[in-house]
Amino acid sequence: MQCRSSEELMSFVQEAKTMTQYGKVANYIPALGKAHPNDLAIAIQYPDGISFSAGDIQKRFTLQSISKVISLALVLMDRGSEYVFERVGMEPTGDPFNSIAKLETMAPSKPLNPMINAGALVVTHMLVGQSVEDRFQRLLTFTQELANDTTIGYCKDVAQSEFETAHLNRSLSYFLKQHQIIDEDVEELIDLYTKQCAIEMNTLNLARVGMIFAMDGNDPLTGKQLMSADVARICKTFMVTCGMYNASGEFAIKIGIPAKSGVSGGIMGAVPCKFGVGVFGPSLDEKGNSIAGVHLLESLSKTYHLSMF
Ligand code: GLU
Repeated sequence: MQCRSSEELMSFVQEAKTMTQYGKVANYIPALGKAHPNDLAIAIQYPDGISFSAGDIQKRFTLQSISKVISLALVLMDRGSEYVFERVGMEPTGDPFNSIAKLETMAPSKPLNPMINAGALVVTHMLVGQSVEDRFQRLLTFTQELANDTTIGYCKDVAQSEFETAHLNRSLSYFLKQHQIIDEDVEELIDLYTKQCAIEMNTLNLARVGMIFAMDGNDPLTGKQLMSADVARICKTFMVTCGMYNASGEFAIKIGIPAKSGVSGGIMGAVPCKFGVGVFGPSLDEKGNSIAGVHLLESLSKTYHLSMF
């Protein structure tokens, strides 16, 4: 049984929307604080080309931490998994996404995984190219390919707003530099990272990216293999173990699909071999996940038996 109409999706949105009042929009990046807390949207992209969407689907939002999955896929393709995992680990942390704690207590002080900020900064550092512009352009082009949409760009306001306030991410980067995990100029890395996080799309774009991961790196609609099945498998595994911040265990039990969320309120899901899903709801719970978005995915998972476990 699967969802086969936008009306069906709309009833899930209406039910979940009542949850938006219990969360808060992220405002530690000032530009994100302008989001409307009651917005909620979902899109599903099937590999046969059919898609359904409901709610505030015209809204575009920045990927924030969802971009970490895309940069990881590109870096794994460019550098190979051995190189990448010499510099970033594979273990969940249980700490908040921006925590510096484990970096100091672990030896060697490489970040525990690529989904927390410290690990994501190391991954962004590994993006190949001659300059920040060049590296960002490669990442953007890859994102456009995954979404099959060349109009995707980044939000300059959000990038600038994060660049001006990313003191904690600068601290993490200086720590990593001190311990020779990275060796580039920290301002350049933060410039690249904040542009990466500010890549902007709508829920249908996000569902399409999720579908590529769900289909083991293949785009069945263009016939292109955009990443190897192995790279897609590694990314999906991280989405299960650490994609939903320190609520990843609860999400795996209640919903049971590989997913990655971001503080803008986006969630990208990849239901293996079935479909991709994109959600946007900027009102966040205390762990940083879209409060209504998670509720929506839980209803969907229960109704259509989506859990892979
Ligand atoms: N750009 C955000 C940061 O590094 C991403 C955080 C997130 O979405 O988890 O603070």
